[in-house]
Amino acid sequence: MDAYDHRTIGQRQDLFLFHPDSPGAAFWLPRGLTLFRELEGFVRAHMRAAGYAEIRTPQVLNRSLWETSGHWEAFASGMFRIAGDKAPRADGISGGDEEATDSRDLALKPMSCPGHMRVFGARVRSHRDLPLRLAEFGLCHRDEPSGALLGLLRGRAFTQDDAHVFCAPDQVAGEVTRVCGLILRVLGELGFDEVVVGLSTRPAMRVGTEADWNQAEGLLAAAAAAAGLDPILQPGEGAFYGPKLEFILSDRMGRRWQCGTVQIDMNLPGRFESAYVGPDGDRHRPVLIHHAVLGSLERFLAILLEHHKGQLPFWLAPDQVLVAAIGPDQERAAWEVTERLIAAGLRATVDTRAESLARKVADSVSLGIPVVAAVGAREAVDGTVTLRWPDGAKEVLYLEAAAARLRALTQRATHRPRPRRETAA
Ligand SMILES: [Zn+2]
Repeated sequence: MDAYDHRTIGQRQDLFLFHPDSPGAAFWLPRGLTLFRELEGFVRAHMRAAGYAEIRTPQVLNRSLWETSGHWEAFASGMFRIAGDKAPRADGISGGDEEATDSRDLALKPMSCPGHMRVFGARVRSHRDLPLRLAEFGLCHRDEPSGALLGLLRGRAFTQDDAHVFCAPDQVAGEVTRVCGLILRVLGELGFDEVVVGLSTRPAMRVGTEADWNQAEGLLAAAAAAAGLDPILQPGEGAFYGPKLEFILSDRMGRRWQCGTVQIDMNLPGRFESAYVGPDGDRHRPVLIHHAVLGSLERFLAILLEHHKGQLPFWLAPDQVLVAAIGPDQERAAWEVTERLIAAGLRATVDTRAESLARKVADSVSLGIPVVAAVGAREAVDGTVTLRWPDGAKEVLYLEAAAARLRALTQRATHRPRPRRETAA
């Protein structure tokens, strides 16, 4: 493993660790969880602005749900199942409201879709409720073979930024175009200027009629074009239940990772007998669009850490400012500066070790902290700090001015990535 492998960065920067106690699942450390929450909050803000309602569905669900969705059979080897029996519980507790329906045969969810189907079906839906956009940061578990595990890139536990849009047939094209725009905006703000988009079409084993597939593939292609994309055709690569658009990023090893996806599903609405009441008063089947913006947050963080070689942009860095006391006499002043920066909404940490400033700056780079605020004898007297920017430039500012300058850096740049056309081998 080299210095820029995300597992090396994670260890050096105290972000997360792996342990044989839970192969394929990260233990998140304080700095890593801060990063994780920032990324999650960033996606959440985009989803909210795009009209999604966030929900949370259960982690462990009865076999009957997985049978309805088809996963119990089709995804058997990928699910962690919990076998149960119907024997009375040893603790003798009974009569709770679970009794009637609990089969005691359960599985950890490998995806959130079936839970969202239940939420949609929990009440009568009108055409006026559509498009209904539901989102979840779902903690999913998949029983990947141990040989396939690769740090955060491929694990057994991951957080999928899963979303489902239930819509009428004439709303599909507009919704897919919106989703493509959302994914491109998010990737652009995260520093990915180039993204390869693939259109995966009908596989040999599939459900649905040819007419359904013609229509679904045509809709995805047209919506992608309306979003300014020119997808590479990936014949036969679609899911058995529908075609999909895939947003593919390359890591610095040149490996390609599927991140965002948009899929039209011709299977689940039928299996769950989903319906809405149309303007004509009749029941109609909604079209289901699944999509993920980043895919797995864990995998995306790995790509992000490697892409930026551990030096994340200011707004995302777990610690944004290291306040360095130059000598023992400035310890108190350094603490005061740190408290002031934290009060201004910045993530600041203090370094009062008896080390040289050069050492503290070097350590801040190693930890991925973008800015150092040095407090020496003069700064302590004047009420200033010397900011050292990532490019090495230095600037002496009054504390309030420094806080304001740093706050301004938390505003993210907005730009749109350039879709790249090439073979998605
Ligand atoms: Zn889904």
